[in-house]
Amino acid sequence: MDSYTRQVNFFGNTDPEALVKKYGTPLFVYNEDILRKQMRRVAGLLPNHRFTSNFSIKTNSNMTILKIALEEGLNCDAMSPGEIFVLKKAGFPSERIFYVSNNVSEEEMQYAIDEGVVISVDSLSQLEMFGRLNRGGKLSVRINPGVGAGHHDKVVTAGKKTKFGVAAQDIPKIHEIAQKYDLHIVGLNQHIGSLFMDYKPFLEACHSFLHYAEDFDELEFLDFGGGFGTPYHKLNDEPEFDIETFKAELDKLLTEWKATTGRDVLFKTEPGRYVVAESCVLLGGVHSVKENYGHKYVGTDIGMNVLIRPELYDSWHDVEIYRDGKPVTDGPREVYSVVGNICESGDIVAKDRELPVTKEKDIVCVLDAGAYGFSMSSNYNNRLRPAEVLITSSGDDVLIRRRETLEDLLRCFDV
Ligand SMILES: *Cc1c(COP(=O)(O)O)cnc(C)c1O
Repeated sequence: MDSYTRQVNFFGNTDPEALVKKYGTPLFVYNEDILRKQMRRVAGLLPNHRFTSNFSIKTNSNMTILKIALEEGLNCDAMSPGEIFVLKKAGFPSERIFYVSNNVSEEEMQYAIDEGVVISVDSLSQLEMFGRLNRGGKLSVRINPGVGAGHHDKVVTAGKKTKFGVAAQDIPKIHEIAQKYDLHIVGLNQHIGSLFMDYKPFLEACHSFLHYAEDFDELEFLDFGGGFGTPYHKLNDEPEFDIETFKAELDKLLTEWKATTGRDVLFKTEPGRYVVAESCVLLGGVHSVKENYGHKYVGTDIGMNVLIRPELYDSWHDVEIYRDGKPVTDGPREVYSVVGNICESGDIVAKDRELPVTKEKDIVCVLDAGAYGFSMSSNYNNRLRPAEVLITSSGDDVLIRRRETLEDLLRCFDV
């Protein structure tokens, strides 16, 4: 049987060995066709409605990827002034940027106001702040649909999203503050959580969200958030997020809402991971194979500074092994932990995985690394952030971010 990456012709006219020779490791490699396919899926989610899809760039803010998103007609979500700045450099006009702010300073909010991007505020106190800074302005408020939506408990008890949004019972206070500062609430947004494979809780949340929207007269848009899942266990045949059924169900819900309320607004979503995760594999070099007290380790240069998801979220990434440019799929197998080169015992890419017998100089190929991969990378241990390469639609490899150098480690110091 062939490897997954070969089945989808991930590497185009090249192969991991040639890429590693040319660019070194660790290396994020993106496939343009897969990326564009996912972008088109999210852009075409609601063809029967006024709709835009915002790509959440905290997942990946590589300039080339942002420019492709621009071409594919996506708008973007920014989570910081830095993301607004980068989006503008990539060519996004202000009206295609939505700033989902969270506990920001006055300076930061002022920056976004001056840049002319629509801001979502995330608490009553930040709504007051916006009012003080921009009396008479337009904005969006992030609603936390927590109450009465039991389906979200899992996400909430995961402790991830509880600080976000204004509670639904505080909606009257939103109106009071808006009145005080003559503000126009032109949007409502929500984001119930990340990485769901079952769309039902999301639809359920949309349902209550639409209900809250009826309290607001000046709405121009409703933004349902992101979180559409990626099948990280694809080598074990995990099915994809069923976007076709989701699409049909969401379409139905919104059509009904428009019919019963007589309203028509722009609908938005904010997918991040779904857009980029599967378009990228992370290549790492195997520098040692060892056994300690009965445990076998594959020692690579994929440290937790390069890919922190396994350490941070106990995330699973499928792993393939390449040797001499070809995937190793047959032959004897062993259980290994694939680990990095950082001085932390949690520096593990894949724990206790059955893999083909692996040797020094093999290449480890970590799948689905495009979301929260490079964007969460760091210089921990003064390791360098890796390079990124795009396999274009014609199959060629192009460097889209240079590897850092030792000199980069000094750029904030007077030395
Ligand atoms: C992180 C985030 C997203 C994207 O989440 P994904 O799971 O990557 O789709 C969208 N909206 C907001 C507000 C977020 O914080």
